[in-house]
Amino acid sequence: MINLYDLTLPALTDLLESWEEPRYRAKQLWTWLYQKRVDSFDVMTNLSKSLRERLKQETTIGTLHLVAEQISRDDTVKRLYRLPDGQLIEAVLMEYDDARRTACISTQAGCAMSCVFCATGQMGFARHLTAGEIVEQAIHFARDLDTRNDRLSNVVLMGMGEPFHNYDQSVAAVHRLMSGLGIGARHITISTVGMVPQIRRFADEGLQVRLAISLHAATDDERNVLLPVNKRWPLNDLIDACNYYIEQTGRRVTFEWAAISGENDTPQQAHALGKLLKGMLCHVNVIPLNPTGGYAGMPSAVRGINDFIDILSTYGVRATVRVRRGIDIDAGCGQLKASVINPRTIE
Ligand code: SAH
Repeated sequence: MINLYDLTLPALTDLLESWEEPRYRAKQLWTWLYQKRVDSFDVMTNLSKSLRERLKQETTIGTLHLVAEQISRDDTVKRLYRLPDGQLIEAVLMEYDDARRTACISTQAGCAMSCVFCATGQMGFARHLTAGEIVEQAIHFARDLDTRNDRLSNVVLMGMGEPFHNYDQSVAAVHRLMSGLGIGARHITISTVGMVPQIRRFADEGLQVRLAISLHAATDDERNVLLPVNKRWPLNDLIDACNYYIEQTGRRVTFEWAAISGENDTPQQAHALGKLLKGMLCHVNVIPLNPTGGYAGMPSAVRGINDFIDILSTYGVRATVRVRRGIDIDAGCGQLKASVINPRTIE
């Protein structure tokens, strides 16, 4: 079976041409898949009955199977999906007061990066997702919002997995989010643990997509412990790659900082970070550490975070605190691990 969400428009055109359908059929089908976002061939009434039959036999409109859904106190929605081979992934929708509707989607089942404070990192790597599996998570949320006369406005590749470890499929998914779903590049964010060659490659893609780097520590000693990939791509190389990205794109980089009490929220780390980022076109997003089963660290207190941000400002480095969302249902940053705890079961 061909997952239609795995095809680009040219690939879809080739497929239908090989079935001896006129070229414009692909565009019609594409509209059903991405703009109308239907989940059945039967409603595609501008396609002939015989074409619909063949599509039914040889293709599927996505492959994600919704297993469970949880809704947090702040209305964050977390969904658990099963993939055809049994792998489980999670995706999150956050609704903000200013009409932003942000889908946080996964790029891998599990993750190979082993960041010690991250639930996905703690579970290990299962497999890469296909571009279709990545995009379909956003399609599902967009479909739901459609029924409420609302629309999906933003997508962040910040769910389970390391997007740059699955570079080709993640970037293909980004293209499909833009060309299919119509999400503007500036409303899409890719977040990476700091895979240096891929950051450089991404800089050359010519995309206006936002780039976020999970920094979390400003010295190699500290970062080696929290993010073991730092041993492969140490801070100097990482910052060089970020500067290359800024030069190539003229775009600002966001640095993410999960504030861990007594660990990376110390004045020493703040000064080291200030020196590291001084003069760079960047922004630091501080987020108090979210609890995960496999890590004993605690989130920094508000006061500690404010002091940290004050020190950064003396270096001219701008930082803000990100509001935590969905923590009560383990939908927060770093909490996705595809475990099912008291979910509202759908099937
Ligand atoms: N692999 C990518 C995408 C994951 S995005 C990356 O590392 O950027 C998830 C973000 O949440 C990353 O910035 C990650 O470092 C951060 N994160 C992971 N665990 C966290 C935790 N327990 N609390 C807060 N943030 C966390």
